[in-house]
Amino acid sequence: MGILEVKGVGKRFGGLQALGDVNLSVQENTVHAIIGPNGAGKSTLLNCLVGKLIPDTGSVMFDGQSVLGRSPHEINQMGISRVFQTPEIFADLTVLENVMIPCFARRDGSFRMHAFGSVVNESDMLQKAETMLDDVNMLSKAHLHAGSLSRGDKRRLEMAMCLVQEPRLLLLDEPTAGMARADTNNTIDLLKEIKTKRDITMCIIEHDMHVVFSLADRITVLAQGTPLVEDTPQNIKGHPKVREAYLGE
Ligand code: ADP
Ligand code: MG
Repeated sequence: MGILEVKGVGKRFGGLQALGDVNLSVQENTVHAIIGPNGAGKSTLLNCLVGKLIPDTGSVMFDGQSVLGRSPHEINQMGISRVFQTPEIFADLTVLENVMIPCFARRDGSFRMHAFGSVVNESDMLQKAETMLDDVNMLSKAHLHAGSLSRGDKRRLEMAMCLVQEPRLLLLDEPTAGMARADTNNTIDLLKEIKTKRDITMCIIEHDMHVVFSLADRITVLAQGTPLVEDTPQNIKGHPKVREAYLGE
C-alpha cells in the first residue's frame, strides 16, 4: 500500500476526457515523477489530489483515508501540500514573515494545523520559521523583502512556506518551469537536501528530463489521460513505448 493510492480516476471537461482511468500508487518517502506531453492531464490529476477538482469516477486515498469530498483546506490539514507553478509569496513582507504566515493562519482551534499541535506561542513559531529558513539556506535573507529575491530564492521561500506545515506529501507542478539552468540545478539540490533532512514523499510533475532523472525513484508516464507505463528512471529511459509517445522517437 502506498501513502497515496489513486484508483480508476476519471475526469471529463465537457466533451473532453482529460483523465481516463488513472491508477497510481506512490510509496512513502519516495520521489514519484509524473511526466507526459502537454495536455496529458498531469495538472488535472494533481488538482484532483488537492481537492481543487472532484473526479467523476474513482478513488483517491491518502494514508488510508479518502480525500474525495474534502475541501482543499481539509486535504492540506491531512498532510498534503502543493507548490505552485508560480511562487505565491507576499512580496511586501519579509522572508521570515512569509514563513510565519502558514503558522499564524492555522493558530486557533478550528484552523490549527495538524503539524502545529505542539506550538503554543509566537516565539515557538518564530523558532520554527527560523529553523525552516535554515533548512533551505535562507536564514541570512530572513529580513529581506520577499519581493526583492531572485527567482530561485523565491522558489526556496515558497518551499519553506510549504514545508513549515510539515506535510507528509509534497506535490510539485513543474517546479523549474521557466527557470534558467542555474536556478533549475539549484532547485534540484534544494529538493535533494529536503529529502535527506526529513521524511517526506514527493510527487513531481516535470517537463525537464534532467530534473526528473536527477530526482525520481519512480516515473509514471501519462498520455491522453491514461498512465502508459510506470517504472524506474533507468527503465523509462529505454522504454520503446515512452520514446514513441513522449520523446517523439
Ligand atoms: P497537462 O498538465 O498534462 O499539460 P492538463 O491537465 O492541464 O494537462 O490538461 C488536460 C486536458 O484538459 C487539456 O486538453 C486541457 O486543455 C483540458 N483542461 C484542463 N483544465 C480544464 C478546464 N478547467 N476546463 C476545460 N478543459 C480543461
Ligand atoms: Mg500542467
